[in-house]
Amino acid sequence: MIDLHTHTTASDGSFSPRDLVHLAKAGGLQAMAITDHDTVAGNLEALEAAMELGFELVPGVEISADSTAGTIHIVGLFIRPDDPDMEAVLTELRVFREERNRKMVARLAELGIHLTPQELVMEAGGDLVGRPHFAALLLKKGHVKTYQEAFDVYLKSGGKAYLDKKRLPSDQAIAMIKDAGGIPILAHPFTMREKAKDGFEARLRELVDQNLQGIEVYYTDHSHADVVFYADLARRYNLLISGGTDFHGAVKPDVQLGRGRGAMNIPYEILEHMKETLS
Ligand code: AMP
Ligand code: ZN
Ligand code: FE
Ligand code: FE
Repeated sequence: MIDLHTHTTASDGSFSPRDLVHLAKAGGLQAMAITDHDTVAGNLEALEAAMELGFELVPGVEISADSTAGTIHIVGLFIRPDDPDMEAVLTELRVFREERNRKMVARLAELGIHLTPQELVMEAGGDLVGRPHFAALLLKKGHVKTYQEAFDVYLKSGGKAYLDKKRLPSDQAIAMIKDAGGIPILAHPFTMREKAKDGFEARLRELVDQNLQGIEVYYTDHSHADVVFYADLARRYNLLISGGTDFHGAVKPDVQLGRGRGAMNIPYEILEHMKETLS
């Protein structure tokens, strides 16, 4: 059993990179990838812990990108975490995100809700602050009754304090991952399918033309029929099969590492195919 899509405190997960590696080893996983949103900062700590434990850790990242179907997420596996060109691009995205966070704090203040940057950083437990941390803090401070209400009223697209974030065009995200030695993979493809409707396969073809190399066939929210559907697409477009739970720890308490909502069992074999492609 493996898990090739997880988040740590470096983005919006609740486990530190080191603790997540320990959890994976203890849970009997054979390998895991850390794929934090728009940052590779967790990988070095995780690689160190993996080395100590004799655990196979795949360095990764998850990039939000713009496609003709709207926002998609592209996971990059086997990236070089210290690649300077990738770091320069990720830094630019982070600077923009910090600016966005400042503006969201200001909008909330206009609505009589006062969050401080320090509180947000504390909530994030790492240096990447995102909307989930705003939601958690709004809940803690009693401004909303549920985490979801924070999104519905303030944080979702069109919400009272919502601001869009900067995203890379999909071809640039794919090129950045490839240039850093990684395999670009379409994450949770059902989200693109929902947006693109009948145009899904044409949109996927555009990504393949941009050098997309893999697709998440196994994913927490995929039914058995979904797995069959995406495995067929992978075969027809010669894409590598990937899979993961999108584990976030306490942020998504119903999703378990490696197991998703209970029955997932992602085969190690798909990782072997990736390694063959890279060698
Ligand atoms: P950000 O990168 O700051 O824009 O935050 C994106 C994250 O917010 C996503 O990964 C989701 O976890 C969460 N999110 C986005 N939209 C919603 C929503 N409508 N309801 C709940 N969570 C959401
Ligand atoms: Zn996340
Ligand atoms: Fe995602
Ligand atoms: Fe994710």
